[in-house]
Amino acid sequence: MPLTAPRPRPRFHPLTVVAVRPLTKDAVEVVLAVPDELAREFTHTSGQYVTVRADIDGQEVRRSYSLCAPPTPGELHLGIKRGPGGLFSTWAHENLRPGQVVDVMSPTGTFTARRSARGATPSAPPAPAAATPGATPGERPGPSRYVAVAAGSGITPVVPIVRSVLEDDPDAHIVLVYVNRTSEDVMFADDLADLKDRYPTRLALHHVLSREPRPAPLHTGRLDAEKLHAILGTLVRPDLVDEWFLCGPADLVRLVRGELAAAGVDDGAIRHELFTTA
Ligand SMILES: Cc1cc2nc3c(=O)[nH]c(=O)nc-3n(C[C@H](O)[C@H](O)[C@H](O)COP(=O)(O)OP(=O)(O)OC[C@H]3O[C@@H](n4cnc5c(N)ncnc54)[C@H](O)[C@@H]3O)c2cc1C
Repeated sequence: MPLTAPRPRPRFHPLTVVAVRPLTKDAVEVVLAVPDELAREFTHTSGQYVTVRADIDGQEVRRSYSLCAPPTPGELHLGIKRGPGGLFSTWAHENLRPGQVVDVMSPTGTFTARRSARGATPSAPPAPAAATPGATPGERPGPSRYVAVAAGSGITPVVPIVRSVLEDDPDAHIVLVYVNRTSEDVMFADDLADLKDRYPTRLALHHVLSREPRPAPLHTGRLDAEKLHAILGTLVRPDLVDEWFLCGPADLVRLVRGELAAAGVDDGAIRHELFTTA
């Protein structure tokens, strides 16, 4: 089927695991092979996710996982963090090995950058209308500015968004605040360090550790409103940011959204992804 044809209705397809690499003591990156005949179904945009289905002890279990690498022909990359007592994530860590086949649904999701359209395909979601006229992301002239705030496994969709934005738009600047308990919990640490090395002036990377001292007090302790102000206040003017990406626990997303609303940031410029339905 030509890649320009409309994508068929999403459904599960069996994909083979080709690699599993540890990211932290409780997170792995799983690489799945996409055969040529399924290339159309698995076209996606950085920030989207897939639903994976498995039979666990006779029960069908489905979970969503964000794609952790920008669109790459023939491959899908997932980052799966094992939660304590988590049914699917524990099964995935114990069972997913090269050669294993899993059912994966075509990518979906609207947690994607509007201005940088790498991987944009006929399946990519359309940009929503802005709530305020004149505040549409993409309309402001000059370099595009992005801020991402992620916690724990919430970094998974953010890594490909950051990478795509920096690679596709030579003028883009992005601030990434990534919150974890300790340095051992930082997923994609090497990938983020590589990005920082490649784009030292365009990527501002802030690792905040809630339970481990860091050289800067700003980077130590729980991310609360005060810390958020201190980090962002010195780096960006909220009204000059084109797009905000928030991914992590509900309380973090609520905190940042509240701060942005108080700063007068247009709601249409903020995208968030929650990993729980709560
Ligand atoms: C759009 C989207 C994208 C996502 N992307 C990612 C991603 O990229 N990476 C990632 O790691 N996750 C991601 N998630 C989360 C993922 O889908 C799963 O929710 C996660 O892996 C946990 O699933 P699980 O089956 O292991 O845990 P579950 O068995 O569903 O349990 C979840 C938590 O609840 C607790 N729990 C379970 N049962 C009970 C009970 N009876 N009482 C009290 N507590 C209980 C468990 O201890 C566990 O901590 C995403 C979710 C969404 C919606």
